[in-house]
Amino acid sequence: MTGSPGNQTDKDDKCPLTFYPCIFKDAGECTLGIPSQEVKPCMLGVAETLVKKEDLAALTKDAHENGYKALAIEYHHLRFNKADTIVELEHRYTQSLKKLTDTGQFLPLPFKGLREKSQHRASEFAKKYHCQRIFSKIGHEELGFPDNLLARIGTSFHAVCNQQQLPWIHENDMLVALGIEPISRKMYCEVPLLYNYKDIATSIHADDLLQFLPNELEFGKDIGDIGVHDMKRKAYSTHEEKGHKMQLAANVLGAEQSIGVKSKWFYIITSKRPRKAVVGRHRLPEYHIGKIAREGITVEDFHSLLVDTNKEQAQLLDDRVYWNSNKEKLTKKGICGNCFDKDTCNYVTGIMNENRQSMRETLEDTLDIVLPNKELPAQ
Ligand code: SF4
Ligand code: SF4
Repeated sequence: MTGSPGNQTDKDDKCPLTFYPCIFKDAGECTLGIPSQEVKPCMLGVAETLVKKEDLAALTKDAHENGYKALAIEYHHLRFNKADTIVELEHRYTQSLKKLTDTGQFLPLPFKGLREKSQHRASEFAKKYHCQRIFSKIGHEELGFPDNLLARIGTSFHAVCNQQQLPWIHENDMLVALGIEPISRKMYCEVPLLYNYKDIATSIHADDLLQFLPNELEFGKDIGDIGVHDMKRKAYSTHEEKGHKMQLAANVLGAEQSIGVKSKWFYIITSKRPRKAVVGRHRLPEYHIGKIAREGITVEDFHSLLVDTNKEQAQLLDDRVYWNSNKEKLTKKGICGNCFDKDTCNYVTGIMNENRQSMRETLEDTLDIVLPNKELPAQ
């Protein structure tokens, strides 16, 4: 059964997307199962097309147990521009979001994307340890491990919030409330980007590529300051995690470089599920909105981390003894026991030691991937 807004025809039919706040339902415009969904579906049509039945059931259960809503990306945009919260600047300064959006708007930034081979992925900077960042580049499925349940829930969550299979879905129309024409999610969500710094290439997939466009500029003709919004299933905490800031710094720098614009400010936004889950009470996501300077401390920190992680990963990849002692140290600290990648790591570490080869040789034998440079890039 697929759905689309229209006139209610059957009161017994209920949209099964219990975790999804649908404005068409609120407006009394929901009709389940009318044929127009083939041309312009609503979220139920999108969910049933893009997400496997069992994964949709797992997402529904997870959202119920952890008390969160999955918002359409367009709904997030309305909230960025209509709500108020704190915008965090560097050096502990803050600003009101409402005061900021009195001077301009957060809008999608359509870009066709740039895809090239790279040594790093922006998402790896959200991980704490260098060894985990190596596994972040590798799909578990390529090594014969099916994606675990949390990974499948995360993928389904993203599909529902920021993807679409057809050129137009009804959710695109929400953008009209911001004074712009509807834009397909395909134009600005999951955009591939590339960031080159000192011969180190980082590839990026931006969940939601944005711009902050001052009121005096015109959408479609001008580009404002770059922003990126990343949707996390993780629970909100008062302070943004350093890893998430670093991941988003890579995103905005990659967007600026790939598009070929100069941004004075960057906006780095994460949305997370509310903390302290109340079972069965689906609550709206919470935001961290950061405004960082092009020449500021966050960009500086990211560049140091990038050079450091490139060097450390190269040593882990080329020195088997170093790999093993790092793993032993993290096992003793209890890190490995709770590591998301422990099955993959144990498997490839076993092959590496059995063949008495380096981790680089083991992974390159097993997978077709590009690993970080052996040499430190020129300073
Ligand atoms: S997503 Fe909205 S319009 Fe579509 S079936 Fe569900 S409530 Fe109705
Ligand atoms: S299992 Fe341990 S050594 Fe392996 S990636 Fe995870 S933390 Fe690193």
